[in-house]
Amino acid sequence: MEAHEEHTGDELKQHYAAMLGLKRPWVVGQVELQLGAKRLEIHLAEEPQASFDCPECSSDCWLHDHAPARRWRHLDAMGFETLLVASLPRVKCPEHGVKTVNVPWAGAHSRFTLAFEAFAIAVLQATASLKAAAGLLDLNWKSLQDIMDRAVARGLARRSGAQSRYG
Ligand SMILES: [Zn+2]
Repeated sequence: MEAHEEHTGDELKQHYAAMLGLKRPWVVGQVELQLGAKRLEIHLAEEPQASFDCPECSSDCWLHDHAPARRWRHLDAMGFETLLVASLPRVKCPEHGVKTVNVPWAGAHSRFTLAFEAFAIAVLQATASLKAAAGLLDLNWKSLQDIMDRAVARGLARRSGAQSRYG
């Protein structure tokens, strides 16, 4: 047990931060391995004194408080279901009031990380079957449908962005 404890220090947190591609102000706060459930929970937090942008107008705001903890399913790590956990900061914008910040690892209302959603779409394309893809990903049909809808919406947003740049 003691050897295990030794590795739950800063080095481990830095490993996970590097694997996730985390950038400041985000840091790994704690890593929780649930052996029985074959689940890995990576808790994320922001550095002290971090400031964030208002999600509406991108103006730099100070932290107001934190929303209740949320979980996002990420790519499995060595067969372990991997979840990111964070209490997202909420900023107080002079114009837009109290808002939950955007995070780099997930879309605004998704319960999955962007990396997981991209993988889910790749599996769906390879299997060409909603049922087979949902089975492989251990997802229910509705969640997979939501992931597809968001991917389509992102594709459309990119296309209209390209049009406005060129047109
Ligand atoms: Zn604002």
